[in-house]
Amino acid sequence: MTAVTQPMVRAEQVRKNFGALEVLKGISLEVDRGEVLCLIGPSGSGKSTFLRCVNHLEVVNAGRLYVDGDLIGYRERNGKLHEMSPKDAAKQRRDIGMVFQHFNLFPHRTALENVIEAPIQVKKQSRAEATERARTLLDRVGLADKANAYPAQLSGGQQQRVAIARALAMDPKLMLFDEPTSALDPELVGEVLGVMRELAASGMTMIVVTHEIGFAREVADHLAFMDGGVVVESGNPREVLADPKHERTKGFLSKLL
Ligand code: ADP
Ligand code: MG
Repeated sequence: MTAVTQPMVRAEQVRKNFGALEVLKGISLEVDRGEVLCLIGPSGSGKSTFLRCVNHLEVVNAGRLYVDGDLIGYRERNGKLHEMSPKDAAKQRRDIGMVFQHFNLFPHRTALENVIEAPIQVKKQSRAEATERARTLLDRVGLADKANAYPAQLSGGQQQRVAIARALAMDPKLMLFDEPTSALDPELVGEVLGVMRELAASGMTMIVVTHEIGFAREVADHLAFMDGGVVVESGNPREVLADPKHERTKGFLSKLL
């Protein structure tokens, strides 16, 4: 039975290495339903790898990751863990939306065509049904009038908003953002953060890797600071940002602010 209090994401001592390189050294954290976790930390600290593990783009080497109570990447049989088939893994990933630094839109498809692709291919929605929903989503990210534009005709901020609409078209229960504004010109950052802020307000559960401290302070329910493959410090964003306890957090924040 599913406990009412079950978090949307639970990481228990998650470890990941690439050959001899130990990148995640025992990450434990939880994200409750409807909550936003911001992950901050220096380059190379393992933030992207952690998100990729949550989305099963990487297989963890030890520890456990649960999304909505489902163990990610493995099936438990007779008390033993077996790696999931690619088909089962794809099914699991379907419910998790991911937005990358580089938007990765299909260049030869319009904004609308980008958004309807996965619902038609993966969810087997009819073209009409997918199109109607895509128009609603493009409207929601402020791009109703850009449905027929190609990525090259859109600014970086607009492309990233299409990428968010595309992820939402799969009705994810969790959204992962990996530095979604890092590749944008400064004047375009706000429009993307605005869409993310509204998404958070609508109750979406989100993990956001970002250097946007203002967003973390105002939107996140929790902040975790990662360094060297561990969570060094975590807690209420306002408290951690105003009064970091660890030297490494202090050092990192002093360089950002
Ligand atoms: P962050 O997102 O915090 O900058 P990453 O998770 O991207 O950090 O990377 C953490 C470390 O893992 C880095 O040293 C990086 O070079 C290494 N790494 C990431 N992906 C791979 C991979 N596929 N193969 C080998 N090393 C990797
Ligand atoms: Mg990264």
